[in-house]
Amino acid sequence: MLSSNFGQLDAEVKMVNKSVADWFHLDIMDGVFVPNISYGFPVVKAVAKEAEKPLDVHLMIKNPDRYLAAFKDAGAAWLTVHYETCTHLHRTLREIRNSGMKAGVALNPHTPVAALSDILQETDLVLIMSVNPGFGGQTFITQTYRKIAEAKELILRENVTTLLEVDGGVGAQNAEALYAAGADVLVAGHAVFGAADPMQAMCRIKNGIIPK
Ligand code: ZN
Repeated sequence: MLSSNFGQLDAEVKMVNKSVADWFHLDIMDGVFVPNISYGFPVVKAVAKEAEKPLDVHLMIKNPDRYLAAFKDAGAAWLTVHYETCTHLHRTLREIRNSGMKAGVALNPHTPVAALSDILQETDLVLIMSVNPGFGGQTFITQTYRKIAEAKELILRENVTTLLEVDGGVGAQNAEALYAAGADVLVAGHAVFGAADPMQAMCRIKNGIIPK
């Protein structure tokens, strides 16, 4: 939703409701962990009010523990924290699950997948950042393919149902390759809202990840 038009947020949410997209992805930035500020609870609540699909909330903020319950109240179904921001990640993930949400961990491009080997059992989702977090519309980092494959291998080895999500620079041009590499969830912002026909853009991305 970061790339949507906030001047007509209701219409954008209704459009996604009618589309082939499965979730709403909301990027929360604090201007400290990442060099940008996005939006906070009023926007999350406004999306939740109209949304007919789950809210997947991605926290790019320092001290996320302070706000876990507040995001649940705002309407988050999935809540993802950054590995780099959590000193007590195990506790944080437990708390997210205990509050009735699905728990995710995001990795910055420089954070190795191996960092997750002792925490995977506590996750419902792993988010691989394919750009440096902070801004929409950035170029995809190709090394991401290797990380996806490594993460998938780890998930299979640990025998967990954790979903693998890719965020940043995703569009119809790489959807199929990302799915083939092992991604389960693709986050698209600019590729959808920057397109002349967002509904069609979502179909083109989805076509790449539907098993043939
Ligand atoms: Zn995100």
